[in-house]
Amino acid sequence: MGKEKTTAVILAAGQGRRMQSRIQKQFLLLNGYPVLYYSLKAFQESFVDELVLVTGAAETAYCENEIVRRYGFSKVKAVVPGGRERCHSVYEGLKAAGKPDYVLIHDGARPFVTGEIIDRTLEGARSCGACVAGMPVKDTIKLADEEGYAQYTPDRSRVWMIQTPQTFSYPLIFDAYRQLMEREAAGQKITVTDDAMVLETVTGRKAKLAEGSYENIKITTPSDLEIARFFLYAQGL
Ligand code: C5P
Repeated sequence: MGKEKTTAVILAAGQGRRMQSRIQKQFLLLNGYPVLYYSLKAFQESFVDELVLVTGAAETAYCENEIVRRYGFSKVKAVVPGGRERCHSVYEGLKAAGKPDYVLIHDGARPFVTGEIIDRTLEGARSCGACVAGMPVKDTIKLADEEGYAQYTPDRSRVWMIQTPQTFSYPLIFDAYRQLMEREAAGQKITVTDDAMVLETVTGRKAKLAEGSYENIKITTPSDLEIARFFLYAQGL
C-alpha cells in the first residue's frame, strides 16, 4: 500500500456582506497579512500533502500572484473559481482535488486553525470516515419559534458550535456532494450550512466531533477583526 494522500480545500470565495467592507473579509489585512494567509500558512506547515484554493472568479489571478507565489505556499496545486453558495464552492474544490484518500475542508476566513486541530480531525476521519472540529458552547442555546419565542432548550452539555476543518474520507464526501448537486439540479431545495450536514442529509452518516479551539473563530463582522488582532497580540505577533 502506498502512502495515504491528504488534500485540503481552502475556501475563500463569496462576498461576505456582513463585513460592510469593499474588500472581502478573507483579504482584509491582519497585522500586515491577508486573513487568508494565516490558514494557508497553517496548512502549508502541516502534514497535509496538497492544497486547493477556491476563490471568487475575479480573484484567482490576485490569489495566485499576491498570496500563493508571494508567500511561497508551494503545496497549493490549484486555484479554482468557486460558486454561488459555500456548498457550490466546496464542490468545485473537491472536483479539483484529484482523488486523495482524505480531504480537509477549511474556511479561509478562520485564520487561527492550528496543526494540532488539523491532526485531530484527520485522526478522527481515519478512524470513522468523517470528523469535524468544534467546541462545546458556553452559553445556553435556545431554538426560537416563528414568532420569536424560546421554544426549546437543548441540554447544554451536548451542544457544540461547529468550526472547520471538516475532514472526510474523500470518496464519502465527494459522493455526498455529487448527490446534493444532482438533487439541486432536479429542483429540490436543500439548505446546508456545513459539510457534515451534507453527509447527514444525503447519506444519514454521522461525523465525529473533535476539539477545535475557542480561538478558531470565523472572521465575519468588523468586531471579529478586532478580536483577531487581540489574539495575534496575545501570541506576541
Ligand atoms: O459566508 P460564510 O462566512 O459562511 O463563509 C464561510 C467560508 O466559505 C468563507 O471562508 C468563505 O470564503 C467561503 N465561501 C465560499 N463560497 C461562497 C460563500 C462562502 O468559498 N459562495
